[in-house]
Order: sequence, then C-alpha cells, then structure tokens
Amino acid sequence: MSADDHLVSLLQELVHARGPSGQEDEVRTVCERELQSLCDETWIDAAGNVIGMLKGASPDAPVIRVMAHLDELALVVKRVNEDGTLRVNPLGGIYPANYGQGPVEILADDGIVPGVLSVGPQHTTADSARIWETKAKGGNVAMDWNHVYVFTRRTAEQLKEAGVHAGTRVVIAQSRRAFWEIEDCIGGYFMDNRAAIAIAIGAATSMRDQGVRPAGDAYLVMTTCEEIGGHGAAYAARTLPGEVSLAVDSGPACEEYGVALSDEPIVVYGDGRGLYDKAVADRLLACGRTLDMEPQCAYWQSYASDATMAKSVGQTPQAGLLCIPTENTHGFEIIPRNSLVRCAALLAAYLEKPV
Ligand SMILES: [Zn+2]
Repeated sequence: MSADDHLVSLLQELVHARGPSGQEDEVRTVCERELQSLCDETWIDAAGNVIGMLKGASPDAPVIRVMAHLDELALVVKRVNEDGTLRVNPLGGIYPANYGQGPVEILADDGIVPGVLSVGPQHTTADSARIWETKAKGGNVAMDWNHVYVFTRRTAEQLKEAGVHAGTRVVIAQSRRAFWEIEDCIGGYFMDNRAAIAIAIGAATSMRDQGVRPAGDAYLVMTTCEEIGGHGAAYAARTLPGEVSLAVDSGPACEEYGVALSDEPIVVYGDGRGLYDKAVADRLLACGRTLDMEPQCAYWQSYASDATMAKSVGQTPQAGLLCIPTENTHGFEIIPRNSLVRCAALLAAYLEKPV
C-alpha cells in the first residue's frame, strides 16, 4: 500500500469512529494504536488527550507539541420532550442546514439508540408555526436548532430507561460516514479534524521510514474538546514540556481568504483568537519551499485553533498552525486527496528543522 493509500484508509477508519466532544473514546483508541507503533512513548493524560512522544536528536533543539483534535462536531440533548422527541443543541459551531435531515445515533448510557434529525412534514401551513418559519413564505429565517428535533419513535419513559437525558451526545450515524470521491478530492464529515490526525501520523510514519528523528523532542497530542473551546489543548500545553504548540487543522478554502482548494498546505499567521508566532509561520513556509511546495498563507477570521486558544489563556508561549485546504468546513467537508501527504511531508520537514 502506498503512503497515500495508507493515509486515506486510516482517515476513513478515523471518520468512522465516533467522537463527540468529551466522549472521544473510539477515536482515542485508534490514535493510541497508531501512536504506539510509531512513538518512543505513548500515554493518555488526565484530560483525555492521547500523547505520543518522539525523542529528538538534540537536547538543545526546541521541543514542539503538535496538536490535532480528537473531537467531532456533534449534538447534545438539551431536553427529552414529552412526545419522545429530543431537543438538541450543537456542541461546537454547526447549523442544522450543514447536517441536514438524516440518520443520527444517540449515545445513550445503555448503548446506541437510532434517531433522525428532523424538521417535520413540509406539507404544512402557517398553522405549524415552527415548520412555517423555516420556509420562504413563512418567516424566511435561517433554520436554527429550535426548528429541528431528533425523531426517536420511543416514549419519553423508554428513552429514560435507555439512559437518554440532558447531556447525552448525538452524532452523525455510521451510514453517513462513508467517503464520497469527487475527481481529485474526498468528501465526508469530520475531515475536521481526522484529516489532521492522519497528517500527524503520516509525518511520524515518514520520519520513521526514512530513519530520521525530530530535532528536539516532539509530542504528538491528539486533543479532547477542541470544538467547545480547546480545553484539552490548554491542559496539554500547561503540562507538557516545550514552548511551541503547533496545531494542525482544517482551513477554509475560499475567496475571502485568498485560499484555494488545492494540494498546497496552508500556513496561518493569525485567527480570530490571536496571532501565530511569525517565526513559526515563516519557518513552516520555508520548509514547504524546500520541498518545492508553494504553501498558501492565510489570516483567518471566524476561526480559532487549539494553539491560539491555549495561547489566549496563557498556556503556551508560542503558537503555530498548519492547515489542510477544506471546502464546506464544519459541514460536509471536502479535501484534495494529495494535500494529505503534502501536509504530512511539510510537518515532518518542520519537526526535523524547526529553526
Ligand atoms: Zn478543527
């Protein structure tokens, strides 16, 4: 299997694993297995981050924490309605239109309960105010979480018995987690941030295969709860050695930022939460150029990463961000297939020569 095929099949396995914020066990298990085969030491910290350590070639070189998040955008039960439907809220920045009507899995205490994210019958009038509001002739408002519900076909009592309650996570069903190939791209949910996990693992794999070590110790950190505020990353940055936290994440490919959906990795200089250290970004750019790439530079708004969130609460002195170009971020996400190995190569080059 080529490096590219290996990364894509790993990515598919990661996407199939369920991982709502704070309940990322299935994804964590896959990451732990991969890191164990590549790293000098692998462990899970008290916050639930999986960490793999690659011993550096020199004790004097900078120690780097590479961060990719485990969690996926999911829903959480706000209340169980008397009719057995669920009122849900988003765990992270998503809107109903981006997930659409369709199968979901309710992660009940006693197992998985099937459900359908629903809007209700469209053959209705102003008499059905909630549905009417979402139509052009009605309120003509963007659909929000109060317009939808999870259909369960169970009674409130049955749901209670199954262990469904406020706080229960609801995720996109397995049947909707297959990849969809379009020309040179692959589409699917949760490229954010399973693509970045694959990139970090791809970088470690190619370093091992080429028999090279990072300059200084490198910690590959798969973090918990990024989508709801970067909680795992802040803890890892506080507790691990090193001064640079380099996040790897999905980057919105769109005209607004002058970023294309191409194979070229994105080096980020700042986002809505703060600045990435210019020296780190400049170095990433230089590493890309030595590999004959033309990395794209970006300055995001409406965006935050593990690295800037950790930096903004004083838990990491320096931050960096490497992104994979992505269409439909926080929706049905599409990435150019070749960008996976290219981002992995750039990351490996940076770890080998971070200054
Ligand atoms: Zn992300």
